[in-house]
Amino acid sequence: MALRTLVAASVALLAACAADEDRVVEQRLLAMGTQVDITLAAADPDAARDALAEIETMLSGYERDYYAWGDGELARLNAGLQEGRPVEVSAELAELLEAARRLSEQSGGVFDPGVGALVELWGFHADTGAERQPPDPAAIDAWLAVRPGIADLTIGGSLVGTDADGLLIDLGGIAKGDAVDRMIRILRRNGIDDAIVNAGGDLRAIGSRDGRAWRIGIQSPRAAAILGAVELGDGEAAFTSGDYERYFDHEGERLHHILDPTTGYPATHTRAISVIAADGVTADAAATALFVAGPGRWPDVARAMGVRHVLRVDASGRIEATRQMRDRLELGDSPGADIIVVGSEG
Ligand code: ADP
Ligand code: MG
Repeated sequence: MALRTLVAASVALLAACAADEDRVVEQRLLAMGTQVDITLAAADPDAARDALAEIETMLSGYERDYYAWGDGELARLNAGLQEGRPVEVSAELAELLEAARRLSEQSGGVFDPGVGALVELWGFHADTGAERQPPDPAAIDAWLAVRPGIADLTIGGSLVGTDADGLLIDLGGIAKGDAVDRMIRILRRNGIDDAIVNAGGDLRAIGSRDGRAWRIGIQSPRAAAILGAVELGDGEAAFTSGDYERYFDHEGERLHHILDPTTGYPATHTRAISVIAADGVTADAAATALFVAGPGRWPDVARAMGVRHVLRVDASGRIEATRQMRDRLELGDSPGADIIVVGSEG
């Protein structure tokens, strides 16, 4: 197989090993517009059942509450922000907004959940069918002239407000990471130490499977191929942002859902970024951030966000990785020499 087809991207779970089947539980749920697969090993079947029920309840409200254009908590916050009226939010939402604001600052603003109004201009907030057009450039210029960002949010305990005009918070670049972290917390609270949660290719693992590390595959953004496998340590999350998840084609150009807040347009230099980090929120935000940061800039942004494991496939299919990622990738019989090592050693 040519290396071209072995380029990296979304992370898929490789077949797990078969020993000790009676302790292993697999559950598939549909949530956040994706398939969520939970694989866990528990000595106590009651603990497994309780944890899965709790996860199902959590996820059933999550999409409503964390979707900017729905009728849940985030939508209510956005309505308040539009009217210049502070809104009382739950401790969970306040905490996620704090984390999002910190990660945005670390990223130098390439990750910015304050892009909600821009996402809406592009139509990526809804399934708007096949006849898609890019927005009027004048509308993008008008947004850029104000450029509201999450830095404009004031978070005083549970009271959230803003002085900025046109600020609309879209947590789409970080919410899946938060949901995955919550699932892991629920599992641990129920005494489950060995599990992997896979939300449409974005995943997080705890413990091991029969003493062997959980192994995942990193998939190509264009071909049904796997670049390599990685073993995840206890608690590690692997997230990918790609140009193939939500996009439309316009005059031969692929216009996708990851937007550069400084230009108002989709970032064009990258196909996919895969990141391994210590938690889902950081991994999810960093994958989006490094996608936007692009060539030259991504290693610095990764360092600032505390992320050491990165794999990037650029628009021409060229593969770059940090030394730490390159060293952890098991390439099977595919030649790894074509992965260009860039960035962090520290
Ligand atoms: P996905 O969740 O589809 O795998 P990402 O985690 O990269 O992909 O999130 C992309 C989503 O984040 C977009 O659909 C949009 O809602 C939001 N978004 C787009 N551009 C940015 C940005 N520069 N910073 C923060 N969020 C963004
Ligand atoms: Mg993301």
